[in-house]
Amino acid sequence: MKGFAMLSINKVGWIEKEKPVAGPYDAIVRPLAVSPCTSDIHTVFEGALGDRHDMLLGHEAVGVIDEVGSEVKDFKVGDRVIVPAITPDWRSLEVQAGFPQHSGGMLAGWKFSNFKDGVFAEYFHVNDADMNLALMPDDMSLESAVMITDMMTTGFHGAELANIQMGSSVVVIGIGAVGLMAIAGAKLRGAGRIIAVGSRPICIEAANFYGATDIVNYKTGDIAKQIMALTKGKGVDRVIIAGGTPETLIQAVTIVKPGGVVSNVNYHGKGDFLPIPRLEWGCGMAHKTIVGGLCPGGRLRMEMLIDLVKYNRVDLSRLVTHVYHGFDKMEEALLTMKVKSKDLIKPVVII
Ligand code: NAD
Ligand code: ZN
Repeated sequence: MKGFAMLSINKVGWIEKEKPVAGPYDAIVRPLAVSPCTSDIHTVFEGALGDRHDMLLGHEAVGVIDEVGSEVKDFKVGDRVIVPAITPDWRSLEVQAGFPQHSGGMLAGWKFSNFKDGVFAEYFHVNDADMNLALMPDDMSLESAVMITDMMTTGFHGAELANIQMGSSVVVIGIGAVGLMAIAGAKLRGAGRIIAVGSRPICIEAANFYGATDIVNYKTGDIAKQIMALTKGKGVDRVIIAGGTPETLIQAVTIVKPGGVVSNVNYHGKGDFLPIPRLEWGCGMAHKTIVGGLCPGGRLRMEMLIDLVKYNRVDLSRLVTHVYHGFDKMEEALLTMKVKSKDLIKPVVII
């Protein structure tokens, strides 16, 4: 079969691979729609996971089941399914400890385009189909369905990790698709003021749509100063980082109040260390929590997010700005994510 791969750091291309085979609990899925992720860009062009050779890219897909293993009970050939970016090994001690994202080791629940081939292929393999697939509602668009697999679960996880309370003041730094979903998640959890940090008009418009109450532009000056001025020197209760650089962490710790939470879902792709500012962290005594996490995957998570869309709590249609048609458009769509034109939030390839 054909697939689009990372050949080595900075190099991508089409390659031929053997069609994967389903073990007894697994499924083979043929993609109906895929979306490239900023994480694919970190992986290929920043070498964030180290050098990889001929690894098929992509971890955001919805598709139709082509084959199921003998022990799969709830899914059959022909079912249309939403496939989470994170597909844990549900029989693992990390799951019993409450962290399926790290089943089998740190970040090891993230299998596609990390521990095995990704979804930019004619077929891809899903481990533990009964626990990792969810049926796609008939009336859901492919574009919206594919946004659930990673963008929605990650942005919402940013809001969960931040432990937003009713009335919390929140800053969301970075308003690409993940940050926009963090805004939507913060609003659903009952945030009061939501300050969005971004610059491109298309993202600002979407941020307002999803619930931002204020916009701060990081290109017109230090955001910590701007946000401290906006909050009369008090800062905010919660910060969600969904974009930016190591310096963003300094700004986040600076603007969060004592007792507050900085929740990071950004993929820091470069450098050996992330900085924590000593004084702003109360010399280590400010009760400012810093937490970061990989998005939850698995079937139940997908089904719960599907319900939020189905019952009109969240409208995902504003995330997808570019729709490509045809399997061979995966390359163009991935490179769009690299260049990130002014009018781009997320591209989707309909196959
Ligand atoms: P994106 O690139 O579309 O969005 C990030 C945004 O941040 C961009 O619009 C960019 O212009 C903006 N930005 C850059 N520098 C900034 C700064 N200094 N201050 C404020 N904004 C700044 O990416 P995305 O798809 O929304 O994903 C966001 C991040 O989340 C990426 O790093 C991605 O790899 C990561 N990610 C993590 C998980 C997870 O499980 N934790 C899952 C998916 C994606
Ligand atoms: Zn991703």
